[in-house]
Amino acid sequence: MRFLSIFLLSLLVTFTHCIPSPQTPSTIPNTFTKRNEDVVHSGNYAIVNCATKATPADLLLRRTYNRLGDVITDLDDHGLSSPYGLKAFFKSASAILRIREVFSRIRRGDSIYPNGVEAAPVLYCLSADDPDEYARNIYNDQCVKKGYPAGTIAGTEFVVLCPLFWTVEIEPGPEECPILLFNRFPRETDGLIQNQFSTLVHELVHLYGVEGSATGMETYGVQEVIELGAAQSVENAANYEYYASFVVAGCTEAPTIFGP
Ligand SMILES: [Zn+2]
Repeated sequence: MRFLSIFLLSLLVTFTHCIPSPQTPSTIPNTFTKRNEDVVHSGNYAIVNCATKATPADLLLRRTYNRLGDVITDLDDHGLSSPYGLKAFFKSASAILRIREVFSRIRRGDSIYPNGVEAAPVLYCLSADDPDEYARNIYNDQCVKKGYPAGTIAGTEFVVLCPLFWTVEIEPGPEECPILLFNRFPRETDGLIQNQFSTLVHELVHLYGVEGSATGMETYGVQEVIELGAAQSVENAANYEYYASFVVAGCTEAPTIFGP
C-alpha cells in the first residue's frame, strides 16, 4: 500500500502512491516493460506474469468494472446526498466530475501515456522467481521487506501485485463498515479496505492520475482522509478507495460534515 521511494539499479525510481516520478523511459529496463510472455488480455488491460492468478485477476477486473458502475450510479443519482459518505470523503460537489472521470477511466481501461507513449494499463504479478532482475528487486524490497500487497510504479503503466494481494478477501462486506463514535471513526478501523477490490481501486486511481498532493504525501486512515479539505481529498487516492468501498459494502454511517 505505502510504496515509497527505492533506489534501484543506480536510478531513482519512485514506486509509489506518492510522488509523480521524474523518470525518463531509460529508467525502466526494457525487459520489464517489453515482457511479452504470460500475457492475458482483459478488456483493455494486460495481465502479465500472473500464471495461475491470471484468471482471478481477470475476474477481479470484471467485478471492478461492475462495482464502479454502481459507484458512478450513486454519484449520478445522489451527488453530495449520497448515502455512502461521499460528502464526508470529498466535501464539495465540485469534486464529482473528477471522481466520475477517474472511475470511468478505470472502467474503460483507458490508455496510459508514460512519457508521452501510449500503453495499455498492466497488472503485473511480482514473484520471487521472476526471471527479470528489476522485477525481482521490487519484489524483494516491496513485497518481502515492506510487506505491501500492491503498488504502482510512478510514471509507468504498471500496477504491481505482490503474493499477499491474493491472500485477502475479494471485496468488502457490510460487517467491515467502520463504526462512528462521537461523529468520528476511531483509529484502527481500516478493515473495510483490506481486500482485493479496495486495494486494486486505490492503485488504479493512482494510475489514472491521482498521484498525491503537492507535497507528495498521502493520507490513508479513514478518519484521517475525512479530515482532509476538499482540494486535498480529490488528490488523495484513499478518499476514492473509501468512497467506492462504502458503496460496495453498503456502509451508510459517516461523520456529519457541517457546512454547504
Ligand atoms: Zn496510494
